[in-house]
Amino acid sequence: MKYVHRVDGKVQLRDIDSSQDGGMIEDDARKETSRLGKELEELQELLFAAGMHSLLVVLQGRDTAGKDGTIRGLSRYLNIQGVKVKGFKVPTPEEIGHDFLWRVHPHAPQKGMVSIFNRSHYEDVLVVRVHNLAPEGAWKKRYDQINEFEQLLVENGTILVKLCLHISKDEQKERLLEREQDATKSWKLSVGDWKEREFWDDYTDAYDVALSKCSPNHAPWYVVAADRKWYRDLAITHALVESLRPYKDGWLKKLEGMGKVALADLQEFRAGQG
Ligand code: AMP
Ligand code: MG
Repeated sequence: MKYVHRVDGKVQLRDIDSSQDGGMIEDDARKETSRLGKELEELQELLFAAGMHSLLVVLQGRDTAGKDGTIRGLSRYLNIQGVKVKGFKVPTPEEIGHDFLWRVHPHAPQKGMVSIFNRSHYEDVLVVRVHNLAPEGAWKKRYDQINEFEQLLVENGTILVKLCLHISKDEQKERLLEREQDATKSWKLSVGDWKEREFWDDYTDAYDVALSKCSPNHAPWYVVAADRKWYRDLAITHALVESLRPYKDGWLKKLEGMGKVALADLQEFRAGQG
């Protein structure tokens, strides 16, 4: 993958420059994103029609990292008929009363469909770890449990793309302050965001551990430099296209077979009409 950082073994977010631009200028990056977006659109249609696989996009990142903006960006290319977006908030009492994956599994995409998770089961080893929301003995087991859960999804035809939107502390401050200045964005303001900011380093540690422990070959994490929104969009669109492309020939083959059967049915029907 050209524009994202694939996590392979141990990773430290502080070693990855969140302001990367790949040596590109914004205008060129936007053009390339829109070219890739068209390819993404075609690939999604094949995924949908062939019904052999599903796509699960997991978006993680700190407050203001751009999870919502990413989903808005992708909506320009994806056919919403085939997409479900699921946000994971503070668990309800009923959810807390179950194992942490109970609320997640029903939202795994069925074959042909795309699911986008805005936050995910990873919160259960991020915010939960930072704020001691569960006993250490419980959350420590979750890394292995997550790996097993994701393996189950992948072995059942899910194409899993996990994207961690990486921003700098300064960039977050700017974005939070911007929300105060812009009346159309101030609805997003929350004291909680400023409070969470005080735990910046704890979150960095929690992310480092989660990304390092849960990036096996079948379900790798990709870190996306997200200080520049146009670069983030390019990196993500590219990562999705590259993740789907290897399946294209298989889908086309299945569709060709389906087309032949449909055509034969039609010919038989016509012959029967005499
Ligand atoms: P937002 O993404 O701004 O809508 O906020 C959702 C909030 O829910 C964030 O502060 C998350 O940390 C929190 N959240 C999501 N999942 C969990 C979880 N499993 N346990 C505790 N808090 C969570
Ligand atoms: Mg928030």
